[in-house]
Amino acid sequence: MQRKTDVVVIGGGLAGLMAALTTARAGRSTLVLERGEAFGGRAQTQDWNGFQLNLGGHALYKAGPGYTLLRDLNLLPEGAEPKPKGLTLREGRLNLLPVGPLSMLSTGLLSWKEKGAFLSLMGRLSKVDLREAAGLTCRQWLERHIPDPRLRQIMDATLRTNAYAGDLNRLRASTALRRMQQSQKGVFYVHGGWARLVERLARTAEAEGATLKGGQSVAGVEAHGEAHLVRTKSGETYEADEVILALPPAETLDLLPAPAASRLRTVLGEARAVTVSCLDLCLSRLPDQAVNLGLGIDDPLFMVAQSEAAHIAPEGAALVHLVRYHEGLPGEGPAAMRSQLEAFMDRLQPGWRKVLLHARFLPSAPVASVLDEPGRRRPVSEDLGLPGVHLAGDWVGEVGWLADASLASGHRAGLAAAAMAACA
Ligand SMILES: Cc1cc2nc3c(=O)[nH]c(=O)nc-3n(C[C@H](O)[C@H](O)[C@H](O)COP(=O)(O)OP(=O)(O)OC[C@H]3O[C@@H](n4cnc5c(N)ncnc54)[C@H](O)[C@@H]3O)c2cc1C
Repeated sequence: MQRKTDVVVIGGGLAGLMAALTTARAGRSTLVLERGEAFGGRAQTQDWNGFQLNLGGHALYKAGPGYTLLRDLNLLPEGAEPKPKGLTLREGRLNLLPVGPLSMLSTGLLSWKEKGAFLSLMGRLSKVDLREAAGLTCRQWLERHIPDPRLRQIMDATLRTNAYAGDLNRLRASTALRRMQQSQKGVFYVHGGWARLVERLARTAEAEGATLKGGQSVAGVEAHGEAHLVRTKSGETYEADEVILALPPAETLDLLPAPAASRLRTVLGEARAVTVSCLDLCLSRLPDQAVNLGLGIDDPLFMVAQSEAAHIAPEGAALVHLVRYHEGLPGEGPAAMRSQLEAFMDRLQPGWRKVLLHARFLPSAPVASVLDEPGRRRPVSEDLGLPGVHLAGDWVGEVGWLADASLASGHRAGLAAAAMAACA
């Protein structure tokens, strides 16, 4: 058995690294065990000949809790805020995406009457009653508040893009509306990809004294007197006063003792994950530089050329992310989804096939571990009934959505574990 540590963090994604940094900064001896050789989990970035490919398009919302936390802890990597210049596609016709007064005046997407109604809706957005919206699905909220079906369709597209989730019949309205409110304060792309954020968290955690070990797949956690034993699949055992599980739900359930796993299963219920299909394209140049964003209105599609703002492609080249949101169970097969994304790109960026250098298609990328639904609450560490074992991840706690939730719950778990370890 290895020397006893104050805190063992299992999982080296954003949640685990934020948790480790927090416990190490509080002076607790901290060990992070990550299954992969590389840290970062879903926030990893792959380099392809100078193109920095995140797992699909990744953006931080500047008004979101994750960005705020990173800024307050002086952990924000370098990046840029994009200036959207976009097109919409509805019923086969392209129109300017209304992102400001000029594009709103000139777009053919909306009639004059619809423009008035849309502007009034945007004006009221910051005052939307999120408590009412928390009890409704997006679909229910839209039907209650937006009588015009054509306007509702535009709001469908806006909500699913901001929430990164296509199942509006189940998604909690307040989750999507809060993201939409936050989007009004701008988004942030990380120069060099999200790996820079991962590195920043990992290096800071190490500088604070944490030890990070890759290639360590954990097989189980069990009580050992007042402490806990963490066993890896390769047969190592670590003893810790506090354990932070910063893993997706299925992996968390696998590691817990049966009674705690059963309590967690009760809270999770029939939880379902949010997936999307992603097509990431490395291009020698962007064929039409006047278009860096594309929004499908009647099809759940999205395109973003993040390299127009972030340094994630070689000089003059372009990195484009396309997303096909899944509206519940994926109806079509991967080949059909890829063709749909390519056809969308044909409309937004004609000529892209001639400048294509490399394409990566992810048919079912796990954006969120658990879909936020009315009537369901996200688990908290106390649900386990296991003193000294803490949960973190995008599916834990009440704060934030996607990476915001991972960072916020990681920080919270780190603070709790540091406080408890001080009493041990
Ligand atoms: C296509 C796509 C686009 C996205 N876009 C955005 C976006 O624009 N904005 C945003 O905020 N978020 C976005 N996200 C979500 C964001 O990437 C995640 O919320 C975040 O990275 C999750 O971090 P995490 O630490 O909670 O989980 P993970 O990243 O899943 O980390 C869990 C870690 O645990 C490790 N692990 C698992 N089992 C074990 C074990 N037994 N032992 C040891 N280690 C183990 C895994 O290897 C992994 O590294 C996107 C995700 C995807 C897939």
